[in-house]
Amino acid sequence: MPEISESLAARLRSGHRSVSFEFFPPKDDEGEEILWRSINDLEPLQPTFVSVTYGAGGTSQDRTVRVTGRIVEETSLRAVGHLTLVGQSAAEIEGVLKQYAAAGVDHVLALRGDPKGGPRAPWEPFPEGMEHAVELVEMARDLGGFCIGVAAFPEGHPDAPTLERDAEVLVEKAEAGAEYAITQLFFRASDYFNLVDRVRSLGNDIPIIPGIMPILNFAQVARMAELSGADLPAEVLAQIEPIADDREAVRAKGIELATQLCRDLLAGGAPGLHFITLNRSKATREIFEALRGEGLI
Ligand code: FAD
Repeated sequence: MPEISESLAARLRSGHRSVSFEFFPPKDDEGEEILWRSINDLEPLQPTFVSVTYGAGGTSQDRTVRVTGRIVEETSLRAVGHLTLVGQSAAEIEGVLKQYAAAGVDHVLALRGDPKGGPRAPWEPFPEGMEHAVELVEMARDLGGFCIGVAAFPEGHPDAPTLERDAEVLVEKAEAGAEYAITQLFFRASDYFNLVDRVRSLGNDIPIIPGIMPILNFAQVARMAELSGADLPAEVLAQIEPIADDREAVRAKGIELATQLCRDLLAGGAPGLHFITLNRSKATREIFEALRGEGLI
């Protein structure tokens, strides 16, 4: 496989418009087959990178490292491995970073993770674990050899006391060594641009890549939005609710809305687009091809 020597950070700094796809680690053989079908389907689009999320349990965590390593080994894709603080001591987390390095995964997304009780449950650090993502950024930086990314929140992280504090946390992670951020899903371009403005007004220029999740199944997206603290805006609801029982119509409208959001984000200067695929390639492909057809990516 061709070696990918230039880091994502270097590509972003050189003005490259990044396109990326996010997957989650499959639970069983059938899920693994679906995932690899999606990866193989999306690889020809030559994304800047793909990423694999990190779950809360030991077996799912092992799968993330394995799948991410396999992507590096068997495809031409740059792979970003997510890593969280959930359920692991600091020593165990350091062990996972070393496993990533050994598997040839030199890009990590350093996250706190969602509490085991769900995204809205209170956060309690693991015994001898770490409390905030910034500590993981520092650990990866000190180990060396990683291009480190972090999470960002257009509507503010649900536990952040203010939007200003939320932006300060992102800047602290950048100052600790993070070279790019990827956002939580959101539906209003203005929320993204307001976050970028807050961070720039603190004097920091970390590239912030917007996370995009098209509405393909109304109930599923409503639940993910609720859990992540993202607001489903009235203008979006007004277009989806009247057709909520018609799956095909919801899918078509969801793709149309997501494509328009992508256009608005790129027109306003977003450095790229990060698609949350849920391991299915078709909708992402449709949006990608529409944007490519317009010369936007
Ligand atoms: P942090 O940066 O630690 O922030 C968490 C909270 O603590 C915030 O309210 C922040 O304001 C506050 N805080 C941070 N630092 C300090 C400090 N020094 N002092 C006081 N308060 C502080 N979750 C998973 O489990 N697995 C995944 O793979 C995953 N992938 C994700 C990918 C993306 C792109 C995004 C946006 C989120 C992802 N998440 C994932 C969810 C994420 O883990 C949660 O949103 C989590 O609640 C916050 O993570 P964080 O890294 O932003 O944490």
